[in-house]
Amino acid sequence: MSLNDSWMQRDLSVLWHPCTQMKDHEQLPLIPIRRGDGVWLEDFDGKRYLDAVSSWWVNVFGHANPRINQRIKDQLDQLEHVMLAGFSHQPVVELSERLVRITPPGLDRVFYTDNGSTGIEVALKMSFHYWRNIGQLNKQRFVTLTNSYHGETVAAMSVGDVALFTDTYKPLLLDTFKVPSPDCYARPEGMGWEEHSRNMFAHMEQTLAEHHGEIAAVIVEPLIQGAGGMRMYHPIYLSLLRDACDRYDVHLIHDEIAVGFGRTGTMFACEQAGVTPDFLCLSKALTGGYLPMAAVLTTDKLYQAFYDDYSTLRAFLHSHTYTGNPLACAAALATLDIFEQDGIIEANKALAARMETATAHLRDHPNVAEVRQTGMAVAIEMVQDKASKTPYPWQERRGLKVYQHALHRGALLRPLGSVVYFLPPYTITEEQIDFLADVATEGIDIATRAAVSVAVAQGAPSEFRDPG
Ligand SMILES: *Cc1c(COP(=O)(O)O)cnc(C)c1O
Repeated sequence: MSLNDSWMQRDLSVLWHPCTQMKDHEQLPLIPIRRGDGVWLEDFDGKRYLDAVSSWWVNVFGHANPRINQRIKDQLDQLEHVMLAGFSHQPVVELSERLVRITPPGLDRVFYTDNGSTGIEVALKMSFHYWRNIGQLNKQRFVTLTNSYHGETVAAMSVGDVALFTDTYKPLLLDTFKVPSPDCYARPEGMGWEEHSRNMFAHMEQTLAEHHGEIAAVIVEPLIQGAGGMRMYHPIYLSLLRDACDRYDVHLIHDEIAVGFGRTGTMFACEQAGVTPDFLCLSKALTGGYLPMAAVLTTDKLYQAFYDDYSTLRAFLHSHTYTGNPLACAAALATLDIFEQDGIIEANKALAARMETATAHLRDHPNVAEVRQTGMAVAIEMVQDKASKTPYPWQERRGLKVYQHALHRGALLRPLGSVVYFLPPYTITEEQIDFLADVATEGIDIATRAAVSVAVAQGAPSEFRDPG
């Protein structure tokens, strides 16, 4: 038995994997990874895979990055962890100062949690609690865009709208206002992104005009709806939204958990609209993909509404055990050093341009409806019919065929349903981008040519199916 097989068997007898129908692994081999090195992951049989999706969008500077490794090792010998209530430490103070400095002006306070979903919970709870603290007891509801994803905990699911992840749990969810997304894939033929996103804002304006008295906050994924299939929109929507939230006295929550730290071409997506949200949620690439941590930044105005004598019971009594973990802070500081010292945002422009040229030919593919890009994210949408953009039935799992072909060729490309995408580490080379484009092209050819017969059930939950 190969080493891979023996680790796989031991794994499958005790583990339950995330976002996975475990029965799939009767056919689909699990890949045990022995080591990582830059953009490469290596399994126990020595086969290497180029990590084209940054291990679920977290790894921006490669695996086992020597600079991040060293910083964590140094921190480990000083202090591994201390509770953050009543105590503090050097890395958490330095990281907070730095996040305040590099984010848009006005975000002056940082609250930490240990993953993205709990960061969203904090933003929602803080917004709700703020209105309560200032005596606006009716402002209790949230506005979200269709096709949004904000995480897996119950309130985070409530503000999400990817049916695959939320439909089952509907009876548990908060009642939210859902506004049609400015997603430019849906724009009329011949219309530009800006015009479409601007037009779609009318729905948001109407919801805010009618219901602002009961709305606490609007939450959006700026510029890219990630788990909803890497759907993209124009920054004008964010400018219009900031303006409307001010007019209607509603908080604006930017979930930059996936898009923060350079993914959209600027350090933070909100920079492209020149706006400051009331809450900025960060995670994923925050620690360079090393350790779980999230940060929620907010304004002094919000902070002051909680600042009072203990007996007024206005404090935000929310905690996660590992809040502000020093090792995670050290990883984040090393990651921010690399951004600064290596001029990453500027250097990424050449890589983004290469991603564009390397995938341009796919626009002419008979089963590709769109190749879209925002900064360091490229998505290729496979469809059954190009002219009408008719999607493949989700049950056919075409993306899974691309995934399997890519593994065979030595790349980790894990499509979202029929959307093949690259979100590579920023340490990727132009040649490696070309390699990924070749692998994706072959995979798309294979996946779209395959005759697939499956019973198509009624009421399909979503066109987006993670293939795992
Ligand atoms: C991944 C993600 C989350 C959830 O983060 P977790 O760390 O997986 O809980 C929330 N919002 C967006 C936009 C994400 O991409």
